[in-house]
Amino acid sequence: MYGLSDEDLRIQGRAATFAEELIPLETEAELSGGDLPKEVTAGHAARARELGLCATNMPRELGGLGYTALQQVLVQEQVGRVTNALAWVATTPPSWLPRVATPFQMEKFVRPSILGEREECYAITEEGAGSDVDAIEATARRDGDEYVLNGEKWHVTSYNSADYAFFQGKLTGGAHAGEHAMFLVDLPSPGVRVVRTPAYSHTISHHHPIVAFEEVRVPATHLVGAEGDGMSFAYEWFRFERLMVAARCLGAAGRLTQEMTQFAAARQVRGVPIATLGAIQGMLADSLTELFAARSLTYETARAIDAGTDVKIQHAQCSMAKLYASEMAGRVADRAVQVFGGRGYMRENVAERFFRELRVERIWEGTSEIQRMIIARQLTSRGVSALA
Ligand SMILES: Cc1cc2nc3c(=O)[nH]c(=O)nc-3n(C[C@H](O)[C@H](O)[C@H](O)COP(=O)(O)OP(=O)(O)OC[C@H]3O[C@@H](n4cnc5c(N)ncnc54)[C@H](O)[C@@H]3O)c2cc1C
Repeated sequence: MYGLSDEDLRIQGRAATFAEELIPLETEAELSGGDLPKEVTAGHAARARELGLCATNMPRELGGLGYTALQQVLVQEQVGRVTNALAWVATTPPSWLPRVATPFQMEKFVRPSILGEREECYAITEEGAGSDVDAIEATARRDGDEYVLNGEKWHVTSYNSADYAFFQGKLTGGAHAGEHAMFLVDLPSPGVRVVRTPAYSHTISHHHPIVAFEEVRVPATHLVGAEGDGMSFAYEWFRFERLMVAARCLGAAGRLTQEMTQFAAARQVRGVPIATLGAIQGMLADSLTELFAARSLTYETARAIDAGTDVKIQHAQCSMAKLYASEMAGRVADRAVQVFGGRGYMRENVAERFFRELRVERIWEGTSEIQRMIIARQLTSRGVSALA
C-alpha cells in the first residue's frame, strides 16, 4: 500500500520494532512523572541509533542518515505511536543549520548533535510573542567580540536535558538594529536561569520551563548566519517540523484506531460485542476513514518534497498536513476514550494518555489558526490546482 519501496518498508519495519519495544514501558513512565531510570533511557537512545532512527534528516556526508522526506515521515509515524515521548530519542537535529553554520559551529554544535552527543533546545517564544514571533522583546547587543543577550523565554522544550539553546533576539544597535538574530548559547552559561517550570497536560521527561537570559555573553562566533537573518531560519524548520507533527499524529491515530477496534470486538454488552453496535461502528469507521485521508495527504506531501516541488507549495502543503492530521488525531483520541468507556479515563489506558498528549499538536509549531491563515494566503495567490 502507498507504493513504498523495499528500502522504505525496511526503515518502517525497524521503526515499528522500536515502537513495540517502548510501548510496554508507557504506564511506568506515566505514573512516574514521565521519567524512566536514566540508564533505561540511555539504552533506548542507543537502540534508536542502532536501528537507524536518529538524524534521519541530516546529510550522510555529515554522519546523518540522509533519508528521503517520506522515509523520515515513516520513522516519525512510528515514534508517534508511543506515548509519554519515550520515542523522542529518535532525534532530528536542526537540518537547516549545516547550510548556514560556520566550520566552528559545525564542529561544536552540528556534528555532536548528529552523533547524539549534544542536544539542542529552542528559546524563541516569549510571554507576549508566540504566533507573532516578530513581537519578541529579547535583545542582542554587540560588545567587542561578544554579543550580550537579554530576555525571558517561555515553553523552552527539553531545556532540562539540552546542552545548548537557540536564542532569538532583536539587535539593539548597528546596521541591523531592530532586526532578528539567532545565537547558539551553551548550557549552562552564566546569566541563564530557570524562572520556573510549569506543569503541562502531558507527562513527559522533557520539561518546558520559563528561562531568563540576563546579560548572557556569547562569543560573536555563536551568531547563526548573519545579523538580520534570525527570522529566515524559522521557515525551513517549520516546514520540516509541521510535516513531522503530521507524521507523529498518524502514528497516534493509527494505534488508537487499532486498539479501540480490538477492544470493541472483545467487549460484550448484553451478549454482543460493542463493535456490532451502530453508534460504536460510526466512531470506528470515521476514525479509520480520517486516518486514511491524513496518511495519504502526509505521504503525498513528503513525496512532493522529495520531487523538489516549489518551496512555497511545500510550505502550504506541510501546513495542510499538520492542520488536518493534528485535528484528525484529536478527534480519534476523543472517540477512543468514548469507545473504551470508563477504562478510557484511566491513566494506564493509551486513549487517556493520547487524549491529553495530542492536544498540543494543534498549538505548537504554529496553531491551527495560523496554519489556516498560511493555507488561505497561498490559495488566494496560487489557486486550487497548484496546491491540491
Ligand atoms: C508544550 C509546549 C512546548 C513548546 N515548546 C516551545 C519551544 O521549545 N520553543 C519555543 O520557542 N516555543 C515553544 N512553544 C510555544 C508555541 O510555539 C506557542 O505556544 C505557539 O506558537 C502559540 O503561541 P502562544 O502560546 O503565544 O499563543 P498566541 O499566539 O497568543 O495565540 C493565542 C490564540 O490566538 C490565536 N491567534 C494568534 N494569532 C492569530 C492570527 N493571526 N489569526 C487568528 N488567530 C490567531 C492562536 O491560534 C491561539 O488560538 C511551546 C508551547 C507548548 C504548549
